[in-house]
Amino acid sequence: MTLALAVAEEGRGEPVLAIDAAFPGGSAETVAIDAAAAFIHIRPALREGRGWPCWWYFEVKNAVPGREMTLRVSGNPGPFRPGGKALAASWAQPRNAAISTDRRAWSRTPAGEFDTEAHTATYRFSAPAKRFWLAWGPPFLPADADELLETAAKAVAGAEIFTLARTRGDRPVRGIRLGAAEAPAAIWVQARQHAWEAGGSWVGRGFLDWIAGDAPEAVRLRERTEIFFVPIMDIDNAAQGAGGKEAVPRDHNRDWSDTPVYPEVAAAQRRIAALEAAGRLRLFVDLHNPGPGDKEPFFYGPFDHETMTGGTREHYDRWIALAAEEISGPLPLRPTYRFATYVTTEEERGRMSSGWVRNHSDPARVVSVTLETAWNTPHSTAEGYRTVGGQLARAVARYLGETASK
Ligand SMILES: [Zn+2]
Repeated sequence: MTLALAVAEEGRGEPVLAIDAAFPGGSAETVAIDAAAAFIHIRPALREGRGWPCWWYFEVKNAVPGREMTLRVSGNPGPFRPGGKALAASWAQPRNAAISTDRRAWSRTPAGEFDTEAHTATYRFSAPAKRFWLAWGPPFLPADADELLETAAKAVAGAEIFTLARTRGDRPVRGIRLGAAEAPAAIWVQARQHAWEAGGSWVGRGFLDWIAGDAPEAVRLRERTEIFFVPIMDIDNAAQGAGGKEAVPRDHNRDWSDTPVYPEVAAAQRRIAALEAAGRLRLFVDLHNPGPGDKEPFFYGPFDHETMTGGTREHYDRWIALAAEEISGPLPLRPTYRFATYVTTEEERGRMSSGWVRNHSDPARVVSVTLETAWNTPHSTAEGYRTVGGQLARAVARYLGETASK
């Protein structure tokens, strides 16, 4: 549409179809909008230095309710690191787009059509309202994290919200501590070291909802375990709708060195190290979303799993056996570990969170893993993710319950 025509339409009092991503967590660059055809073509915004351009989330304005609409999504062709290359479009192209009229309840469009030569995804759906929102997946923003923590803190006596750190962008990273203070067993669960992986926070929400709930197993777990949970680690990039992965100067999950760049990583290291020094740390789980081709949740386990012996091997094997029993569907867990072999050096492996925890804890006592929950399946919804999180929590309760009674 020409500018003159747009002005003419506005002059007649008929505002034209438009999009807006200027809000917390928003991300989209307009490639084309054709109001007459109800067609919107976007790509994720490129925020140089802020990681992969794969997340997108925007508001649609002035749609005609009930009208068939088309959303086309391309990859962003720009380099996301100085001198680097573009990200493959498939990371920005989920099977279904998330859609909402109130930004609380998220449903999904019918499955998209994928053009592997043009590298586009095309989603066709009926406009649910004049104003609505579309996203890569159900968003989970810093405000959602605060609400989740406050709800859990109200539900559980003695639960305490803490500020882990203030970020480089001066935002608070909040977490919650609940259960028995100074209990002999402590666990640390965190999500969103990679800001675009919103599904990790939804898994975390399901985890915390179960932990803070009334199930007898949850009550019993809280009686003898101290639980630490952080729903969003990379608050800075999540707040800006940036991808975060491979950010400059460092990927958040390659920052677990002796000299972290991110204050929240340094603070998590200090707290985890204190739990370890007290001989209380039992389990560390980092929540992520994997690649577009991964259709089942899986754990990244320790690289030396095959050569582990004795109690250490037993703990890791028992943990994944219980997790696979509990995480049984609609997103069933792969029952064996995978290994992040794409990370090739010991030095870099040690700068990933679960590797750092392994290298700084007693392997006979601590299981340290990364859970990658598939995002590109029919069940990768807010509800599906929350179910995985609740099942993960049940696995934790069983695992710690077994070893406590030995
Ligand atoms: Zn990740």
